Amino acid sequence: MTCPASSPAVVLLSGGLDSTTALAATLAQGVTVPAAVFVDYGQRHIRERDAAIQIAGHYRVPLLCLDLSGFGALVSSALTGGDLATTIVPNRNAVLAAAAAGIAVDQNAHRVVLATHAGDAVTYPDCRPEFVAALSNALRLGCGVVIEAPFLGLSKAEVVAEAARLGTPMHFTWSCYVGGSQHCGQCRACTDRAEAFRDAAVPDPTAYAATGAAR
Ligand SMILES: [Zn+2]
Repeated sequence: MTCPASSPAVVLLSGGLDSTTALAATLAQGVTVPAAVFVDYGQRHIRERDAAIQIAGHYRVPLLCLDLSGFGALVSSALTGGDLATTIVPNRNAVLAAAAAGIAVDQNAHRVVLATHAGDAVTYPDCRPEFVAALSNALRLGCGVVIEAPFLGLSKAEVVAEAARLGTPMHFTWSCYVGGSQHCGQCRACTDRAEAFRDAAVPDPTAYAATGAAR
């Protein structure tokens, strides 16, 4: 089955920088996005959902929230309540993409946009290009939906540069694992975020609670 690059796409929107940029890039191509999908997989805090709501509102894209908190409760990671040093939710990308593929079918879309970038692949096995390609093939066979991962070859800094080019509302995005009203500035997500802005030479709109580690 072939799938034209202009056909409707569902975008997985975590509320973070990468998925927000993926949504912006998809819309900038003139692609219809019938829905963005936010997945609650039992993150320790749900600050990301507020970000996703703001971002979807900014782009006037319907936001569907999928409750997979029961999945998060059965795995262990920093994102769902375990050790802060570990940020791996086993097979998270596969679970999210498979769920989004089912939603895409319901939305008459045949593509799911996943914002995984090259930096993710170093840490997360289910972000590696060969895995994403295999999963896309499986989903195509299962329900006629393919995965688009436009940032697989880009570093996070290159994603930030793309975000700036597209005028993405980066101030709405949320990366911090800790939650609260401000980015903590010290967790892995915060330091990666700050570093990406620095490397891209793009002004960082983020207010970090602790600036020592992030700046
Ligand atoms: Zn943080």
